[in-house]
Amino acid sequence: MFEENIDEKRVVTDTNMLLENVICPICYYILWKPIACGSCKNLLCRKCSDKNSNLCPFCRVTFQEQSPESNILSLLYNLRIRCYNSSNGCTDIVSYDLLEQHENLECKYISKKCHRCQQRVLIKNIDQHENLCEPIYRNECLQERSNERVDHRQSIFPMNQFLMEIFNSIFSLGQRPRTTFRNNLYQSAIFNQHHQQNYLVLFWILFKLIVLKPSSSFFFV
Ligand SMILES: [Zn+2]
Ligand SMILES: [Zn+2]
Ligand SMILES: [Zn+2]
Ligand SMILES: [Zn+2]
Repeated sequence: MFEENIDEKRVVTDTNMLLENVICPICYYILWKPIACGSCKNLLCRKCSDKNSNLCPFCRVTFQEQSPESNILSLLYNLRIRCYNSSNGCTDIVSYDLLEQHENLECKYISKKCHRCQQRVLIKNIDQHENLCEPIYRNECLQERSNERVDHRQSIFPMNQFLMEIFNSIFSLGQRPRTTFRNNLYQSAIFNQHHQQNYLVLFWILFKLIVLKPSSSFFFV
């Protein structure tokens, strides 16, 4: 997806143009969709304007939005910017006005979260990845990401966690779910663990796993 915070290091320019004229004094990135204060004429990105205050952050007068002067706009439109996905392999350098379109639609190196393991994968590889991505790896992936902020919907409730531990111990003893039967049970358990009310469903899944597959219940005798 398009990255609105454009670091000046991404600007490719062979002139001695001073980038300081096009840096937002609020976010310190390249001005993005800038607006100007009608009173002091200072510029800032629209995303950087304070939604909770109608005062200009620079002169503290009631903010009267103006369009930036045309010389600033032409400086911006002359910028050529390295695609945000360059670390993924994109070598494209795109003009300021086409950057959003490129990064949202045209770039071949857009990444997307795998809905199973939550890792970012290049969009051109996502189908292949998701077909191969085993949901059993999910817990490992979440552990790797535990330092990152985890969406609260992904938090696991104590009863569900307890049931999932039993579940995982069956699967780690039996290794990966080899059959469609076990794989389906595993996937529905993964899905249901995120819903507090669904512990009965988890019980039912465990029951099916243990009772309908005597080889699994062996581990609990
Ligand atoms: Zn800004
Ligand atoms: Zn002002
Ligand atoms: Zn690109
Ligand atoms: Zn994955």
